[in-house]
Amino acid sequence: KGKLYLVPTPIGNLEDITLRAKRILQEADYIAAEDTRTSGIMLDKIGIHNKMVAFHKFNSKQKAPELVQMMKEGTVIAEISDAGMPVISDPGYILVQECIKADIPVVPLPGPSAFATALIASGFDAQPFTYYGFLPRKASEQKPYFEAMNQAHATSIFYEAPHRLTKTLTTLASVLDDNRQIVCARELTKIHEEFIRGSIKEVLAHFEQVDPRGEFVVLISPNTDETPKVSMDELVKRVDQLVATG
Ligand code: SAM
Repeated sequence: KGKLYLVPTPIGNLEDITLRAKRILQEADYIAAEDTRTSGIMLDKIGIHNKMVAFHKFNSKQKAPELVQMMKEGTVIAEISDAGMPVISDPGYILVQECIKADIPVVPLPGPSAFATALIASGFDAQPFTYYGFLPRKASEQKPYFEAMNQAHATSIFYEAPHRLTKTLTTLASVLDDNRQIVCARELTKIHEEFIRGSIKEVLAHFEQVDPRGEFVVLISPNTDETPKVSMDELVKRVDQLVATG
């Protein structure tokens, strides 16, 4: 019977492929990969040799129905992205949606993703958190997101490309309260893994000394202001009700 497996692959360290992921990638009829060349090299290193089909953001609309048809006819497809979890800031969600519509089983495998890996080492409360993926590139379009993050009683997480990091952090500095902590998680699971922690000013000062290189996840600590979640009027009303009902 045809089905779609969603298979996470390492975000750097090749030892992070799971035993199950390896088996599924070997047993599937096809591996649907964002970039068959890049994935081919990675799969070769972990000893997997299987047929591949290209599935990326430029062909996903037209390719999804084709893959769905194959699965209807019994083909088992394992979907991977260049790194980490498919669908997480990567293609895949259209195919998942089409499979659900066509009643094809979707089987997700757990595994590495950069945002969750960064979150657990951030030292920030992981409940609740908000994951934004990549933000818009223009400062004017980033600002509303940063205002929301400044208010949020949740840890905020986003991805940024190294050549845009300093500019984005400068925009963030124009909005974020000074008492908030930032973590830039760099090159997770790789040789140069590093966590740059501090206030937004301290983190920016770091990147004035050292050019951002490699891959980054940015995290912002939750707003811990004790602003009441209900208004004063509402509180008075509730107390009145309690008094009235004894
Ligand atoms: N699907 C991936 C996942 O599950 O995390 C994300 C793919 S997205 C196209 C690539 C971005 O993820 C990078 O620009 C970076 O922000 C983040 N990323 C991926 N690998 C990383 C790593 N090893 N260390 C830090 N950030 C990483």
